[in-house]
Amino acid sequence: MKPFAYVRAGSVQEATDAFAAHPGVRYLGGGTNLVDLMKLGVEAPTALVDVTRLPLDAVEELPDGALRVGATVRNSDLAAHPAVRDRWPALSQALLAGASGQLRNAATTGGNLLQRTRCPYFQDLSKPCNKREPGTGCGALRGVHRDHAVLGHSEQCIATHPSDMAVALAALDARVELRGPEGARSVPAADFHRLPGVHPERDTEIHPGELITGVVLPAATAGLPSAYRKARDRASYAFALASVAAVLHLRDGVVERAGIAFGALAHRPWRARRAEDALVGAAPTTAAFEHAVDLELAAAEPLRDNAYKVPLARRLALDVLGRLAPPSTT
Ligand SMILES: Cc1cc2nc3c(=O)[nH]c(=O)nc-3n(C[C@H](O)[C@H](O)[C@H](O)COP(=O)(O)OP(=O)(O)OC[C@H]3O[C@@H](n4cnc5c(N)ncnc54)[C@H](O)[C@@H]3O)c2cc1C
Ligand code: SF4
Repeated sequence: MKPFAYVRAGSVQEATDAFAAHPGVRYLGGGTNLVDLMKLGVEAPTALVDVTRLPLDAVEELPDGALRVGATVRNSDLAAHPAVRDRWPALSQALLAGASGQLRNAATTGGNLLQRTRCPYFQDLSKPCNKREPGTGCGALRGVHRDHAVLGHSEQCIATHPSDMAVALAALDARVELRGPEGARSVPAADFHRLPGVHPERDTEIHPGELITGVVLPAATAGLPSAYRKARDRASYAFALASVAAVLHLRDGVVERAGIAFGALAHRPWRARRAEDALVGAAPTTAAFEHAVDLELAAAEPLRDNAYKVPLARRLALDVLGRLAPPSTT
């Protein structure tokens, strides 16, 4: 048992000040990932700054039709929120596809975004892992990697990001709002997580000490047809083997706007820009969907044991696109 301090922050300023005052501090949301990692010895913070009492637990309609979701809104509450269910259904579906009811009741929006990879080598202190301990090697590269990345991985790390919610946020053009020692800023959700490159220890673009204060769902994707689909080893309580979130807007029989993101294929939610570009201006035919998805997945570089993910992701994407805009002809 490693001793650590516990601070319950009453305001955002108090939270960021407490962070600055304790080197090695971590913010504490629902604790469903962080506390597990502390028990495993993967995380050993000197202090926990509990952010769950901050006034960041509201879902707020903004005057321009956007929706601001506070960082401490619980995953269950967000999934059930009428505005989310009606106007950004892919987000509600993604949340409900994650974890279990009990976990979703505890997990927060900020914590969900910052949950760490489920790579078993990362969670096992006896194994080499560049993400946990830079320079020690990647145990998964030539080890057990059926669940690992097929896109954007590096020799340093082949882990995937486990969040379902983050995949929907990336497809829906959401933004992540942050507050830190240098003030407030916001980052597109699709750019919030990183590819591993030579620094797999960094999961996201967050700066030291920054607090996630919320997420904004934009008016531009409100009310458009959107959906999330996830393939996993069992029907609930399992992380994705592959998933897809998509939003489509048709006008005059052609695709005017497309947002597509894959989950469990890469170190971050994989925004499928090539597929989107191929679809915009095209009629929603099976051939157009296949062409777009194949163009995106042509970049895949499967490992020894995970080539199955490419056809799986392809089928999921074609199914979701077909549901959002039933193809006119083949
Ligand atoms: C058995 C099991 C199955 C699961 N299955 C799934 C699944 O299928 N899909 C899925 O998506 N997830 C799944 N999860 C993961 C779950 O969704 C996450 O554990 C949860 O979302 C994390 O949220 P939290 O609030 O508990 O975060 P915490 O554990 O409190 O924190 C996680 C990280 O975020 C940081 N943090 C928290 N809040 C903030 C903030 N506001 N600003 C800055 N940093 C912050 C913490 O310091 C920590 O580093 C599963 C978890 C378990 C245990
Ligand atoms: S894939 Fe990444 S997280 Fe897993 S062992 Fe390799 S470096 Fe560590």
